[in-house]
Amino acid sequence: MNGVSKYYGSFRALKDINLDVHLGERIVICGPSGSGKSTLIRCINMIEPIENGDVVVEGVTLGADRKATELVRRDIGMVFQQFNLFPHMTVLENCVLAPMKVRGVRRAEAETIAMTYLERVRIADQAKKYPAQLSGGQQQRVAIARALCMSPKLMLFDEPTSALDPEMVKEVLDTMIWLAEEGMTMICVTHEMGFAQAVAHRVIFMADGEIVERAEPEAFFTNPQHARTKAFLAQIL
Ligand code: ADP
Repeated sequence: MNGVSKYYGSFRALKDINLDVHLGERIVICGPSGSGKSTLIRCINMIEPIENGDVVVEGVTLGADRKATELVRRDIGMVFQQFNLFPHMTVLENCVLAPMKVRGVRRAEAETIAMTYLERVRIADQAKKYPAQLSGGQQQRVAIARALCMSPKLMLFDEPTSALDPEMVKEVLDTMIWLAEEGMTMICVTHEMGFAQAVAHRVIFMADGEIVERAEPEAFFTNPQHARTKAFLAQIL
């Protein structure tokens, strides 16, 4: 992201964001509510348009060329706080829809791929159920499997455990840790600082639409530099 600014009306939600993320890197973004974390990751897959600057993914400047943008967006998976599964479709249908419609994968192959990922997230036995028949933790694991069915090169997570009951947080974090161990490039907005310490290469702290601090986890947690980071960590740790 080069000099990215984002406005909602006259409100500047992102201010001159510069961020490089390398292949295989795992970034955790944290910061107070309203600091622009969600907006930042939503700009990476163009859910939110930006007013200034560039987002470049795999060498493609998003928005510059429609076809190239569409192709590169397919490589970006996203997991939302509220799961966002299609409620009228079974777990399996949720997982095969995008590969079939967007990538043109045949149904039999799409189902084989879907079952492989559903097994990886330990939920294959629920494949015929509808989202409402599953717990929140199970739905979020399905959402992760669904994103993986598109063979993404980058996964964005927007507070994936915030809507979960406490006993379900671990099963989703364990799935994310597995994904990290597989070498997936991940950008995660989360307040799960244990997760950040365990898997992040870098932690980014935002406040008021800006990146205030960025550091490796150990330095971030033991020796934060900025007063706002210190205040935030004092509150949540
Ligand atoms: P965070 O994820 O850190 O909680 P957000 O990115 O959701 O922060 O929001 C950053 C700021 O932008 C907040 O002040 C929020 O109220 C505002 N905002 C977010 N989405 C919209 C929107 N669709 N319209 C107007 N303002 C928005």
